[in-house]
Amino acid sequence: MNDAACLFCRIVERKLPADIVAEEEGLLAFKDVNPQAPIHLLIVPTEHVPSVADLTERQTPLIGRAIHFANRLAHRHQLTPAGYRLVINCGPQAGQSVSHLHLHLLGGRPLRWPPG
Ligand code: AMP
Repeated sequence: MNDAACLFCRIVERKLPADIVAEEEGLLAFKDVNPQAPIHLLIVPTEHVPSVADLTERQTPLIGRAIHFANRLAHRHQLTPAGYRLVINCGPQAGQSVSHLHLHLLGGRPLRWPPG
């Protein structure tokens, strides 16, 4: 079930343009419009889930599949063996600005920790 008011649902439905890099069943990967690293992709479920905190037990396997998808994309973008970061922000205090669950894949430069 998609949400007509949701930015990432509109990207999933191809109603809003995005630089889509890959798709597989139930997941879409596209370039972040404001990249924080040379490679900055977002991996989203095609089904609307507002945040990781909203995942039902039925939906939880999506996270494992999203990580597996991200690992393959990292390999495809030559981010291994140097390394990369996977981030899920949950809620406003963590910096979640789009209410559609998304996994950030960041790499291509040294990434500081903690992120601040
Ligand atoms: P977060 O702050 O974790 O919710 O991440 C949301 C991300 O979505 C940010 O890194 C934004 O740059 C990115 N973003 C917002 N709008 C778009 C868009 N239309 N296409 C691609 N990325 C977007």
